[in-house]
Amino acid sequence: MRALVNKVLEICEEINRLIGACNRCSKCCHYRIPLLEEDKQRIENYIGDTLKELNGYIEPPCPFLEKNACKIYPARPLVCRIYPFLLLNEGLFLVNINECQLAQKIYKMLGGREKANIVKISLSQLEDLLEKLTLKFY
Ligand code: SF4
Ligand code: SF4
Repeated sequence: MRALVNKVLEICEEINRLIGACNRCSKCCHYRIPLLEEDKQRIENYIGDTLKELNGYIEPPCPFLEKNACKIYPARPLVCRIYPFLLLNEGLFLVNINECQLAQKIYKMLGGREKANIVKISLSQLEDLLEKLTLKFY
């Protein structure tokens, strides 16, 4: 499972970076964010303090959001890193297509035609998209 999470993280971050369609609207920073133990440790190392009040979740409004920018961007939680992708036990999803400009662009590039706000994505679809983007940009 860890190997899959790392692979998804690597691919999703790279796709998001190459597409570059995030307009920094910060809408995705107004949800309840699950916080893994490794996220907590990374953030604590980054800010040099402990996060006692966060019990497994960052509740909205996110305390790290300041003027539409993330104060802990290099150390942000895994869920924030892969957004607008969401990794659940049921699989990988592209979420909030209707409200996130980056998600809309990814959906179109994946060939999405129907109106949808959330779609399930396979790992091979992601790998194909990354390959297409890499060929385009390098
Ligand atoms: S909602 Fe989408 S476009 Fe807006 S900041 Fe988040 S990832 Fe970027
Ligand atoms: S940690 Fe950063 S990216 Fe994640 S919700 Fe908070 S402000 Fe947004």
